[in-house]
Amino acid sequence: MIDTDSRTFRENNSGQKRGERNIMSYSKDAFSSKTVSTDQTTGQLMQEHISFPDGGSSYTCEVCCKELTSKAKLEEHIITHTAMLEEHTRTHAARLEEHTTTHTPESEEHMTTYTARLEEHMRTQNAEVEEYMYMRTYNTESEEHMITHTLESEEYIRTYTTELEEHMTTHNAEVEEHLRTYNAELEEQIRAYAVELEEHMRTDTEKLEEQMRTHTERFDSCRYKRTEFPVRYFVKDPSDSM
Ligand SMILES: [Zn+2]
Repeated sequence: MIDTDSRTFRENNSGQKRGERNIMSYSKDAFSSKTVSTDQTTGQLMQEHISFPDGGSSYTCEVCCKELTSKAKLEEHIITHTAMLEEHTRTHAARLEEHTTTHTPESEEHMTTYTARLEEHMRTQNAEVEEYMYMRTYNTESEEHMITHTLESEEYIRTYTTELEEHMTTHNAEVEEHLRTYNAELEEQIRAYAVELEEHMRTDTEKLEEQMRTHTERFDSCRYKRTEFPVRYFVKDPSDSM
């Protein structure tokens, strides 16, 4: 920890106040690389200090750079630093404990609240995920159902249409066959009726001709009588129905 450059500077420049350069070099070391820890004892601090006397005529405190005229005074001075350090450590420990005491319930409260909120959030999110999964599954099932249903409907319509066409074809054939048969029967009936009519007409004509012949004969006979007998007998004759 000896600043050799400073010491050389002081030796070469006797007019400058001694220890002025040491303030810069020691203060930097004291608060950076040589940070005091709580387990350092007074003896350790003194050992460091007294092992580096400055120029043999004065002793410099490594912590605050104060120059003392004897080893005894430096030892006495170091004790004040140690006492301050211990006081500082005690104060710091107390404040740390108080701080921890204050913060622990707050932390626990915070953790409880946070955990509750996290659980609630997880529940909500799980519910949403489950709802989403359910809807996705449901939609998929619905789509599958609709596709199956549509396919079944189309298959049914195809089958039904085919059956209907087959039925209509059969039915039309039956109707045509029925009409053919019916027409044939009707024609047969008409033919039979025509034959009967002709027969009837022939018979009737023959009867009529026979009647005409009879009447003609009777008329001729009557005319003959009219010539033989007076007209008044012919007119009043009851047997003459003509
Ligand atoms: Zn000091």
